[in-house]
Amino acid sequence: MSLAASKGGIYAQSSDPLGDDISIVRQWLALGDKKITGIQLYQDLVLKSHPMQLELGIGNVCGLKCQHCFLGYESGATISPLIPMSTLLDTVTCMVEKLGTRMIAVVDRDALTPNRSIPFFEHIAKLRKTYPEIKFGGVTNGLLIDRYADDLERIKLDYLDISMEGVCDENDKIRGKGTFDLALKNLRIALARQLAERVIVATTLHRFNDDSIIRMIHQLIFEDGVQWFDIGILMAVKMQQYQLQQRDIVEFLNSLSQSLVPVKVSQPITILVEICAYCAAFIPALIDSGWLIPEQIRQDKYGHLYQNIHVNESVTITLRPELIPEYWRHTLRISSDGYVIGGCEPLTQKDYAQLAVGNIQIEPIQEIYRRVLSLESPFYHSMLAYNHSECREKACFAYCLGGDSLLAKSVYGNYHVKDPNCVWNEYKFQNLSMYANNFRLRRS
Ligand code: SF4
Ligand code: SF4
Repeated sequence: MSLAASKGGIYAQSSDPLGDDISIVRQWLALGDKKITGIQLYQDLVLKSHPMQLELGIGNVCGLKCQHCFLGYESGATISPLIPMSTLLDTVTCMVEKLGTRMIAVVDRDALTPNRSIPFFEHIAKLRKTYPEIKFGGVTNGLLIDRYADDLERIKLDYLDISMEGVCDENDKIRGKGTFDLALKNLRIALARQLAERVIVATTLHRFNDDSIIRMIHQLIFEDGVQWFDIGILMAVKMQQYQLQQRDIVEFLNSLSQSLVPVKVSQPITILVEICAYCAAFIPALIDSGWLIPEQIRQDKYGHLYQNIHVNESVTITLRPELIPEYWRHTLRISSDGYVIGGCEPLTQKDYAQLAVGNIQIEPIQEIYRRVLSLESPFYHSMLAYNHSECREKACFAYCLGGDSLLAKSVYGNYHVKDPNCVWNEYKFQNLSMYANNFRLRRS
């Protein structure tokens, strides 16, 4: 499983705001220019925050032991018992009806968990009749799709992410022998029976599988007609020897796009590239290379930032930069045993409850969400970290803002040090792109 995988991708409209018209883009640039403080940002975001998105753990067993699995606890070894189904259903109903949640993504460990996933999906499908803008789905390792196909066909998820780690050799080295063939067989069932509006192949990029992912994308487009891919980046709390270096994501995007130029197919292909909170350290290189262009970033109605790059008439690469982490202000993550923890960063630790703001098995979610935004909450501290980051005087702070402070806190116990995904001292700009320079000049 990727961390949250695609969450269904982007729901774009031609009226989506662009560049400087998006408040998060303006705030990100202003923080980088040191024109606002983290406290000012906190005060502004508190007024606008609501959990538009929910990332929810539903089970604690997945059947695999992937080398890159970011979860800090063993399969089955959660701190508390699983959330009772009645609490799960009441919580999601309350979030939809009272807190305005409209995107529900089932994540750790596997979206297809016996006796839990189908009743949960059925419940959301009912809510979707009243609130048609709800989007929901989940990420699975693909091993059990055939067992759930009848139910999924009836429910019709908005999306289903199926995780694969490259072509057979690389996938099986990471996930275990035989897992590629099994996932492929089930991917074909999902496509043939249209088990979700969007059937998406989700993958985690690192130095071991970068070439293999490109080969896999070609294979699945031509042999199986896959139209959706989602590429997440390794969270380097495991497999550090394969951690991406500062310009690797740029090299990967260059290779991927060049390889796709000749691809002409009748159905559109979308490749989502997740630049989520813990990937902030890759943003300076993306800006420097001209891949990420602030004035071309848009925002969909679910709050996702995105930038489309059309490789040709058939293929679009969609970058999804968070710029400022979505957790707490926009997204809540709830572990399968009920801890409300914002993003997935705390889950990298055995003691993932350390940054929890409450547990839905003990308190209603509305009470917990009030505390989520309060002074001294992890949200407050992560905003404050922009003022105190050890990276504040580096040139790359302008776009990275010092990395993912919640991950730094989870791993090192300190919000102000740079996160483990930045394995360099400072990103040195090589040729800060013409677009990025022009954008800043026009704003100054
Ligand atoms: S399938 Fe997902 S949850 Fe299971 S071991 Fe692999 S990465 Fe971890
Ligand atoms: S050195 Fe700090 S500011 Fe620069 S890329 Fe790394 S984490 Fe970000």
